[in-house]
Amino acid sequence: MRKAGHKEGGGREGGKGRARPVAVEDLAGMQAALVEARAAAAGEEVPVGAAVVRDGAIVGRAHNETVARRDPTAHAELLAIQRALAALGADRLDDCTLYVTLEPCAQCAGAIVLAKVGRLVFGAYDPKVGMCGSIGDLVRHPRLNHRVEVVSGVEAAACGELLQGFFRAKR
Ligand code: ZN
Repeated sequence: MRKAGHKEGGGREGGKGRARPVAVEDLAGMQAALVEARAAAAGEEVPVGAAVVRDGAIVGRAHNETVARRDPTAHAELLAIQRALAALGADRLDDCTLYVTLEPCAQCAGAIVLAKVGRLVFGAYDPKVGMCGSIGDLVRHPRLNHRVEVVSGVEAAACGELLQGFFRAKR
């Protein structure tokens, strides 16, 4: 029964108040990603979290580790994808949903396509580097051989506030 609910999330029209209904399992997945994001903030990492879910079970979760690893590529969703692939012993995640609190960048959007992630649910838009609708769209590029079903704006306010609070405290 994991196909219940609407395919589209809040989209861009969200703004104030509740956007159109989000499936219960998508809210649960985003909550798991938010838990990871909060753990990142506690460790001085930029608070972005991700979780990969298959048949209602989390098969990979991660938060940003760019500071701890001194690796600018150690983004939450990339690490979560790598962990999910390892946990499942698979080379594709077409039956999985990736939840991430922030719109993926070019690197991570590329990884999502390469790993053939079935669905992507993200929270806040990233107008500076987001490559899933903001400055470009790799995950739904018409000439790539894999296109991802995307739901955006899920718990966008909570996801965005974590980031804003983090950078405000840095200043
Ligand atoms: Zn990224």
